[in-house]
Amino acid sequence: SSNRVGFIGLGNMGSHMARNLLKKGQSVMIYDVYPEAMAALEGQGAVAARSLTEIADSCSKIITMLPSSPHCTQVYTGDGGLLKSDIKEGTLLIDCSTIDPATSKEISASAVKRGATFCDAPVSGGVMGARDAALTFMVGCDSPEDFDAIRTLLSLMGKNVVHCGSVGMGEAAKICNNMLMAIGMVATAETFNLGIRLGLDAKVLAGVINTSSGRCWSSEVYNPVPGIKEGTPACNNYDGGFAINLMAKDLGLAVNAANATSTPTAFGSLAHQLYKMLMSTGYGSKDFSAIYHYLQERPQQ
Ligand code: NAD
Repeated sequence: SSNRVGFIGLGNMGSHMARNLLKKGQSVMIYDVYPEAMAALEGQGAVAARSLTEIADSCSKIITMLPSSPHCTQVYTGDGGLLKSDIKEGTLLIDCSTIDPATSKEISASAVKRGATFCDAPVSGGVMGARDAALTFMVGCDSPEDFDAIRTLLSLMGKNVVHCGSVGMGEAAKICNNMLMAIGMVATAETFNLGIRLGLDAKVLAGVINTSSGRCWSSEVYNPVPGIKEGTPACNNYDGGFAINLMAKDLGLAVNAANATSTPTAFGSLAHQLYKMLMSTGYGSKDFSAIYHYLQERPQQ
């Protein structure tokens, strides 16, 4: 039917998001390059498409949740992509992936030429937020009329839908947030490592910092030292949570954006280098708080 929602990219995040659309009574057509990714959702009422063209043909709203910028360019404007297909005028395209804001703007320009509307709507909240329909969406779209329709659909998968500005501004907000989160985590990890080496008890130090001016999200909610805050990846061998591979990708986007606007981001660039170094040391699939584990392992002279 023309009210059908297309969902492309059924990985760690997308599979939960598509499931929440189904739970809330939407008719959903799905597509992923890996057919295995579609099997579970088919059992729950989704219709599997054989190609992007089939999604373009049968859906009035299409959501993408893909790994990075090149995947989005491929799916929207590549050979056999959505905007190379017989897409209907007025189709609403919503990209929830974390990608370069410049890529979002390019895709939007191609969409406008085809009479479709594109918006960027990256998310915060992680896999748990996706599972519990508790995500925050940061939306970049060019007209307030579009935003109402976008908010209605995204609300089925999240708690907050924030209009950040024109196309690309959702991505801009997302990469700025993640750059600050990364810097805060590196700073927290090195601070706790120093305090512990000075002889402080980690819990005592956390108690002081979290009631003092050094307090931040990484020290209070997501402490990187095992045993400080229950339920964190630090208490679970740094498994689960937000992988260093993804954090390094997002910091790369921030560094690109900084270069494109001649903006000094000394600490953001340093955090990027540190997380790339951790990737090459075998930490890529660990949570980004594992920077503490890495620092603490460095020998003392
Ligand atoms: P993922 O790698 O688990 O899933 C991506 C899916 O896209 C895979 O199933 C893959 O097969 C599919 N795919 C790739 N190319 C495709 C193509 N050409 N056509 C169709 N399908 C294709 O990634 P994820 O963890 O779900 O993350 C998706 C996005 O959300 C990323 O941009 C990530 O940075 C962002 N994000 C992730 C988290 C998180 O905690 N995982 C949190 C916030 C934001």
